Amino acid sequence: MGNIKVVKFGGTSVADANQFRKVKAIVEADKNRRYVVVSAPGKRHSDDNKVTDLLYLCHAHIKYSVPFDQVFDIISERYLEIVRELKIDLDIQPYLDEVKSRITKNVSIDYLASRGEYLNGLIMAKFLNYEFIDAKEIIFFNNNGSIDWDRTQEILSKKLSENHRAVIPGFYGCNTDGKVKIFSRGGSDITGAILARVAKAQIYENWTDVSGFLMSDPRIVDDPKPIERITYSELRELSYMGASVLHEEAIFPVREVGIPINIRNTNEPDNPGTIITDDIRLKEGDNIVTGIAGKKDFTVIAIHKNHMNSEVGFIRKILSVLEMNNITIEHIPSGIDTVSIVIANSQLENKLNIIIEEINNKCNPDTINVHTNMALVATVGKNMVYTPGIAAKLFTALGEAGINIRMIDQGSSEMNIITGIEDKDLEKAIRAIYNAFVM
Ligand code: ADP
Ligand code: ASP
Ligand code: MG
Repeated sequence: MGNIKVVKFGGTSVADANQFRKVKAIVEADKNRRYVVVSAPGKRHSDDNKVTDLLYLCHAHIKYSVPFDQVFDIISERYLEIVRELKIDLDIQPYLDEVKSRITKNVSIDYLASRGEYLNGLIMAKFLNYEFIDAKEIIFFNNNGSIDWDRTQEILSKKLSENHRAVIPGFYGCNTDGKVKIFSRGGSDITGAILARVAKAQIYENWTDVSGFLMSDPRIVDDPKPIERITYSELRELSYMGASVLHEEAIFPVREVGIPINIRNTNEPDNPGTIITDDIRLKEGDNIVTGIAGKKDFTVIAIHKNHMNSEVGFIRKILSVLEMNNITIEHIPSGIDTVSIVIANSQLENKLNIIIEEINNKCNPDTINVHTNMALVATVGKNMVYTPGIAAKLFTALGEAGINIRMIDQGSSEMNIITGIEDKDLEKAIRAIYNAFVM
């Protein structure tokens, strides 16, 4: 299909009329920007609400039989204002009325939450003079929640060949029962990736409110350096660990077919942003560490037993306890006589005591220590593999900042060193590592 660019605009990029104008200027600046994916209107300032959050709030009101009109009015006004200010020739009121009329006690959360992008897509299509394609008609899920690629490929590619330029709302598709199904939060990034893949795009541009992927979370480190190029693997490690610029699942559809992702800033369109690709060669003067990210709220269960490694099936027994309790695991760093199991608190609910008891009964360890309220910090960089002394430098930095390290895990790729520290130290640790490797 040639030089198609798929462009996705996140919530802040489509939050009000002024942002819509910036989007139009960006789209019109390059005739290859043919397929535009939009989020629901996001925050206009730090105290503002995202429309998606308001829709969830609306659903909560309905569930508890509390009148929802006030919340719905706030949502409606966001759209009415955009249409009014841009003088778009579209009467959005009937669409708002339709959504409102479909709200009953049994309205599905997926349908309601998806209307944020649906309504915004209708408005953007009219504003850009592009076709509107409802995501429900082109993106299909399997019963297990994965994408039905065969069906999506067949129907979406046909639709794209019929529509040279189109706006597609992000965040949802169609379930096997023909009803709307949403992705997890931030999922418009995935919609963009699916579009890019099926359109055989030359690039997937993801427009947001930062000038690319930064070496660390700008809310933690002051003015972190931008990352010019990053591999999909490094990005996946960082986004999984909380660098939430891009939904972690947005990487797979494009990576498999070698389409690069370009993170760009709607408010600074001349900035080249970050390119995500696998084709990166090491250059003189490159940073050793590509980025640092961290997440709170983990529990580490540290199990010690002398001669553990000569006992057949020891780790399997531990894992079977977790499996029986339906718990997924984040990391399992191990030594000769110790193994630590790292679990997200959200997985544990109230099961911790039962698990400890079962591990004690099944495995008969010498000691079990449980560290709750743990945070994980990932220090990621493909160049770390070739550079000696990285771990030493990292631990010195944390030591000098007075931070206790409870766990260390270095994946076999050596591209990522994970340290487990206390929740309260997370921000301090990220700053210490950043200063050690970047300043
Ligand atoms: P959108 O609504 O456009 O999808 P998101 O809010 O999902 O945007 O993602 C962009 C935000 O990610 C930024 O505003 C920033 O606060 C946050 N962020 C977290 N970690 C990083 C990082 N390493 N680099 C850049 N931004 C980051
Ligand atoms: N509007 C949805 C959310 O807030 C999806 C997205 O913005 O990507 O999660
Ligand atoms: Mg996002």
